[in-house]
Amino acid sequence: MFSISSLEISSQQLHQDIQDQRSGAVVIFEGIVRNHNQGLDVKSLEYQVYHELAQKEGDKILQEAKLKFNIHHARAVHREGHLRLGEAAVWVGATASHRDDAFKATRYIIDEIKHRLPVWKKEHYLKAEAKWVFCRDHHHHVHFEEKDFYQKQKNILDQTRLKKARVLMVGLGGLGCPASVNLALAGVGKLILVDFDKVSFDNLHRQFLFRPQHVGESKVKIAASLLREMNPFIEIDYHESFFRPEHLEGIDFVIDGTDNMKTKYQIHDACLKYRLPLLSAGLFRDDAQLRTMIPGDGCWRCLQDVVPDDALFGNCNDFGTTGAWANTAGSILASEALELISTGKNSTSEMVLHLNLRTLTSFKVKKGRKEDCHYCAGNFELVDTFMEVDEAMSGDILDIRHLSDDEVLKSIQSREKVILCCHRGHRSLKVTQWLRGQGHDHVYSLRGGAPN
Ligand SMILES: [Zn+2]
Repeated sequence: MFSISSLEISSQQLHQDIQDQRSGAVVIFEGIVRNHNQGLDVKSLEYQVYHELAQKEGDKILQEAKLKFNIHHARAVHREGHLRLGEAAVWVGATASHRDDAFKATRYIIDEIKHRLPVWKKEHYLKAEAKWVFCRDHHHHVHFEEKDFYQKQKNILDQTRLKKARVLMVGLGGLGCPASVNLALAGVGKLILVDFDKVSFDNLHRQFLFRPQHVGESKVKIAASLLREMNPFIEIDYHESFFRPEHLEGIDFVIDGTDNMKTKYQIHDACLKYRLPLLSAGLFRDDAQLRTMIPGDGCWRCLQDVVPDDALFGNCNDFGTTGAWANTAGSILASEALELISTGKNSTSEMVLHLNLRTLTSFKVKKGRKEDCHYCAGNFELVDTFMEVDEAMSGDILDIRHLSDDEVLKSIQSREKVILCCHRGHRSLKVTQWLRGQGHDHVYSLRGGAPN
């Protein structure tokens, strides 16, 4: 449990909260107000906390620690208000069977709190004027007010509407980077990022959220942390996975910045089924296409019922593009999203926009609508072409716990539909992704694994 307290922290009480007879180790960290900082004598400290977000983020950090480490309980408290010297500003405690887990979890929690919580610190000095301070391990120490943040757009955008919006952004590539940055900075209240992919070197020239040191790391995780830093007044969440219809829960609309037709159709169909608007963009070299689908008002299936083969189109991974083109198309995507939030419609909900980014020529095509389209009517069943299955209803189960990746590859080739399973469903999903990447579309992963 995480909490924000305006009263002095009682270590004894908190210690009791996390006690457990199974625990052989208790690790407690206390961050204390000290009497000096950067050569100045400090007499007291003042913390200002952005409550709503700090609470959510704090809860999330403790939850993450529980998943990552083998601990029994974790508890953390951050102070707000005016603190005297020697008072605890932050308290973190974790219990576990073994000390290593308790140490690691406590360390993780305090580091993430320092990094992610929207907390500002004002130092009061003995001989100098008090000031809001910046410290290198705490990005949020630069103090500013939410209304100042949006000062230069206040005559253009309705900030209250933006704050209420809940947007799902699928794909954090060339289109997703500029789109998510622009939406986060504009103040979209909740942005949820979906991407299974990890950063690679050939992403860096156009996907400007990522740096060389991020190569190999999860795109959504890096993006979420940077976007939180850019705008501490909004909520950012993410799913490090392929798009799933479950991701649509609690969402107002979806932005699709993915790069293949199969995924685009999956998102498209799910949005029609759950009656959510979809803004979709595609980029092929210097040609961008943008369309907003409002359920019931025409869809891709009106024109072409079968999913087009990617080989007929190609995508930027295969044919290349430039950062300037991708970022322009992604920014237009964000602009269309802001317009949709503000007015309920936008230019690309009426017409499909085709834009050549090299010649700067564009044309709009009136979208078609087939009268008896089942998809437009929402009158169809979603076909589960996704990689994870919840139970092994049909198909061969392959326990991969004692098999190498190559052995799995060998074993799946003679089977029709095969469901990989491991202890917790993590490795089986990874191997499924790898196999699907090689065209083995008949392979699935058993979600959650089979612990026994
Ligand atoms: Zn349709």
